[in-house]
Amino acid sequence: MEAYNGVSVPAGGQAIEVRDGKFIVPDHPILPFIEGDGVGPDIWRASRTVFDAAVREAYGGQRRVVWYEVFAGENAFGRFKEWLPQGTLDAIQRFHIAIKGPLTTPVGGGIRSLNVALRQLLNLYVCLRPVRYFPGVPSPVKHPERLDVVIFRENTEDVYAGIEWQQGTPAAKRVIDFLNQTMGKNIREDSGIGIKPISVTGSKRLIRRAIQYALDNGRKNVTLVHKGNIMKFTEGAFRDWGYELVKEEFSEVCVTEAEAGTKPGKVIVKDRIADSMFQQVLLRPDEYDVIATPNLNGDYLSDACAAQIGGLGMAPGANLGDEHGVFEATHGTAPKYAGQDVINPSSVILSGSLMFRFMGWKEASDLIERGITEAIRQKRVTYDLHRQMEGAVKLKTSEYAQAIISNMNGKEAVHG
Ligand code: NAP
Repeated sequence: MEAYNGVSVPAGGQAIEVRDGKFIVPDHPILPFIEGDGVGPDIWRASRTVFDAAVREAYGGQRRVVWYEVFAGENAFGRFKEWLPQGTLDAIQRFHIAIKGPLTTPVGGGIRSLNVALRQLLNLYVCLRPVRYFPGVPSPVKHPERLDVVIFRENTEDVYAGIEWQQGTPAAKRVIDFLNQTMGKNIREDSGIGIKPISVTGSKRLIRRAIQYALDNGRKNVTLVHKGNIMKFTEGAFRDWGYELVKEEFSEVCVTEAEAGTKPGKVIVKDRIADSMFQQVLLRPDEYDVIATPNLNGDYLSDACAAQIGGLGMAPGANLGDEHGVFEATHGTAPKYAGQDVINPSSVILSGSLMFRFMGWKEASDLIERGITEAIRQKRVTYDLHRQMEGAVKLKTSEYAQAIISNMNGKEAVHG
């Protein structure tokens, strides 16, 4: 019997397959899940109940997820003395789509971040972050509903490639000597050094996914966000390669901002300098649909946008490659709330909704989003939203999951 990490794959399910870049999803797909550390078990229990209810409600037993637990983080370390066992990677590789809760970042121990390791090992080159508002969620801006963007952040390159040398080490000295003596630079001897690689391959495959997403989902524009006025050969090149890609592959369906109005096109491709983009999402949010950006800009921008619609507790995320997708919470393990059944599970629940949409299970995804929208509209929320919403009812994590489920088909009478 097939097993990973010594745990048998449950009977009754089939593996998702990928053929010619298309995900072929059977009616009973095996989906590996990583429960996550800290509040992970609380969140997973609630999320799984919501997922199963949505699938049941949408497909009446014809479709069903066969969940399969795989291990990473503290849970894996406790069992196998490894933070990210090979069996977990093999299982995700085999079944193609997985979902995970938050993981503790090990301090010391050779792995910088489990999330970064997963992305690099499975070549998950897109970090996808849709950011939209759910009416009633407390927000620091006057019109949070005007922001509805889908961010495609490059996930494998840039300063995240991990190429850096600590100040004062012989390696740092060698790099500095090379740059000063051979390349005519003038770097201070007491510097630490980091390298920012951005490639044609990495940029074009990311921007291609962003444009394709806009076309598939009826979005009107794609904005390339970069700091190319300063970093010409990395960030500036990212922008240039984006426009080059439009000419090479999308000239029939896309126009640039300069061409808009003179030539028909389903999607407008434009670019903005990163610092101005942070103003734009606050001041003119409705002018942006899909955003494609290098790693570091994307990291900052997705958290800033999430704050605008009510915080990380509500923001879903996914890491996608050509053949794999790992859907995940965007917040951390919030260890002080572990085991208390109080944390907001919306980030994982919405990541699951995103996963179902990606699998083509649109009906289940719609039900989950309707359930969340209604529960929040009725002000039946967890502590984090409760403390900022007047007249709200404070629910436990598990009760909030039930509130979502009972609202899925709009059957629930409006609550007190
Ligand atoms: P955190 O776990 O995100 O928690 C910080 C605070 O954010 C919490 O105390 C809580 O605020 C609020 N919060 C987070 N998630 C929430 C949720 N679902 N519902 C309601 N409130 C929520 O950040 P951290 O304490 O800096 O990190 C803890 C561990 O998580 C670290 O090991 C870190 O490396 C790791 N981490 C993992 C991921 C990931 O796996 N994707 C991401 C980030 C961090 P209040 O106390 O105000 O209620």
